[in-house]
Amino acid sequence: AKHDGKGMFHFFEPSLDVQARQRREMELDLRTAIREGGFELYFQPLYSLKEDRLKAFEALIRWPHPEKGMISPADFIPLAEDTGLIVQIGEWVIREACHQAASWPGDLSVAVNVSPKQFLSPNIAGVVMSALASSGLPATRLELEITESIFISNVEKTLGALHSLRALGVRIALDDFGTGYSSLSYLRSFPFDKLKIDQSFVRDLTQDASAHAVIRAITTLADALGMETLAEGVEDEAQAEILRKEGCRQIQGYWLSRPIDARATQQYIERMRGE
Ligand code: C2E
Ligand code: CA
Ligand code: CA
Ligand code: CA
Repeated sequence: AKHDGKGMFHFFEPSLDVQARQRREMELDLRTAIREGGFELYFQPLYSLKEDRLKAFEALIRWPHPEKGMISPADFIPLAEDTGLIVQIGEWVIREACHQAASWPGDLSVAVNVSPKQFLSPNIAGVVMSALASSGLPATRLELEITESIFISNVEKTLGALHSLRALGVRIALDDFGTGYSSLSYLRSFPFDKLKIDQSFVRDLTQDASAHAVIRAITTLADALGMETLAEGVEDEAQAEILRKEGCRQIQGYWLSRPIDARATQQYIERMRGE
């Protein structure tokens, strides 16, 4: 940004050439990271309000870039999707998440984000099956998260993948619920196990009574359809209390913990068990 002396900043949009070059560079760096194991998984706890206990962790990818520092998934997953590299990256995520979760005690599950292109790739069930087999993690302890954007692509292929994955015993959650394309008819015909209520609905809870009504409506709908509910982005106790009151089963968010690395996850589990 350049200061013009009148209290104004001018931002220069990089030219299309520069953008294209940056994308190409990032694509090459992604390929290197895939080849050399350059990604890491962080984990964030999912807590059951209903049972008052830790249920699972969501695996969230991190890319510690050798020169650029930590790159957030929001900044490279879209490019990975466009280039198709997401299929390989996502396969690593599933393997690593299952491997880590297999070392956790009890019946703690792991939730893994699967992007549309990966979910609709021909061998998704094979990848999941082999990750479960080589890690020894029971299928019932793996949950896959897909977003509503899956509905704009091939409905038949999506249903096929959903059914073959659920046949393995894996659970499927609909991520970012309420922000995208889903209609009530989709909810009836797609066998989801859980709705993850987007954090935008949670943010307004303490100011806005209509936000309560939305949460209540979603939990009532989910109950009727036999689906679980989880609220994302819970940042304080007041929000958690309202969610409990409105019938939401599970919560996730900074109030419980930020995403933490694998070692800190082990320590978190130890601490929770000690309480
Ligand atoms: P998401 O699946 O909706 O994940 C939740 C995001 O919200 C995470 O951001 C998490 O750090 C953040 N978050 C959690 N609690 C709170 C809170 O209390 N307040 C706020 N403001 N934010 C909170 P993150 O880790 O940067 O991931 C961003 C997105 O990148 C994810 O959104 C997901 O769509 C995608 N992503 C992450 N890991 C993977 C992956 O392994 N594969 C794929 N395909 N996508 C991934
Ligand atoms: Ca997610
Ligand atoms: Ca989400
Ligand atoms: Ca999101």
